[in-house]
Amino acid sequence: MAKRDYYEILGVGKGASADELKKAYRAKAKELHPDRNSDVPDAEARFKEVNEAYDVLKDADKKAAYDRFGHAAFEGGMGGGGGPRGGHPQGDFASAFSDVFDDLFGDFMGGRGGGGGRQRAARGSDLRYNLRIRLEDAYSGLQKTINVPTSVSCSSCSGTGAESGAEPTACPTCSGMGKVRAQQGFFTVERTCPTCGGLGQIIKNPCKVCGGAGRVEKDRTLNVNIPAGVETGTRIRLAGEGEAGLRGGPTGDLYIFVEVMDHPIFQREGVHLSCHVPVSMTTAALGGEIEVPTIDGGRSRVKVPAGSQSGKQMRLRSKGMPALRGGGTGDMFIELAVETPVNLTSRQKELLREFEKLSEHNNPESSSFFTKVKGFWDGMKS
Ligand SMILES: [Zn+2]
Ligand SMILES: [Zn+2]
Repeated sequence: MAKRDYYEILGVGKGASADELKKAYRAKAKELHPDRNSDVPDAEARFKEVNEAYDVLKDADKKAAYDRFGHAAFEGGMGGGGGPRGGHPQGDFASAFSDVFDDLFGDFMGGRGGGGGRQRAARGSDLRYNLRIRLEDAYSGLQKTINVPTSVSCSSCSGTGAESGAEPTACPTCSGMGKVRAQQGFFTVERTCPTCGGLGQIIKNPCKVCGGAGRVEKDRTLNVNIPAGVETGTRIRLAGEGEAGLRGGPTGDLYIFVEVMDHPIFQREGVHLSCHVPVSMTTAALGGEIEVPTIDGGRSRVKVPAGSQSGKQMRLRSKGMPALRGGGTGDMFIELAVETPVNLTSRQKELLREFEKLSEHNNPESSSFFTKVKGFWDGMKS
């Protein structure tokens, strides 16, 4: 079942202020409170929905993630198990391993660990980076250096958020659970601890550099390997290269969304390429050889049979795009466009008139098209 939009649930616009959100939440929670709606079957579910929506939108970090990615921002992880990822490169220049996803969008940030309320609250956001590349780069693959504005673990406090020496202590409100339970009539409602924001820890003496967040804003330079065969819509995940988590929480992932630009010469359809090639009237009539460009920057010589018409297609095997995960190379289709000569000299015109006289036996009026047209006209008369 599709999840409803959080703003819609609360009945506010995307630009709603914290105050407006709070007001809307209070009104909805009152209206839908299970104690007053014991005869409405879905009241409890709707009440929970309202709580969940407000839980996200009242938190600036979560709200930002939701605005960017929607519900996918909180649906758990690629790796299944969740939990902190140890030892990924945190340096200024990290050469990243990448996984390529070009499947359904459902893969995007799907399935992270579920349930773990505390870690979910502290995990850094996933980031999206849009990368436009040329078709020839998609053909060969490329190494790309990108700059990503993100937040990284604070080096002053090693990501703990505490001034050196001061250890974070368990939150007294929730005893480190990150959640508090409240009895509301018949129901027990569990919600994020208001004191620690779900982290389960408080810091009495926060780090002066990061203000206790355990992370600081910074541009990161990444060296990304874009594999051959990518196309518009291909996503590349760089695990652990997203935003640093809060107070040492697990780092989010970075997703590179590839867009392959249109090419002035080649059109792409999956692994195949096509290309319109002009050919002179004489070559088309008499036959000959033409040179066509190929995506690797080279050229191929192609035989044009005598009597080729405009629109004739020819296939150059294995001159298309590589498949993303191996499995061969596509073909290139050439479509001929026979060009009518222009700016004729008087000698050329003379020759063409002579040619015309000699061509009376094979003029268009004897073609099957005109035979059909004649039948059509005769049919209209009767
Ligand atoms: Zn710090
Ligand atoms: Zn707490």
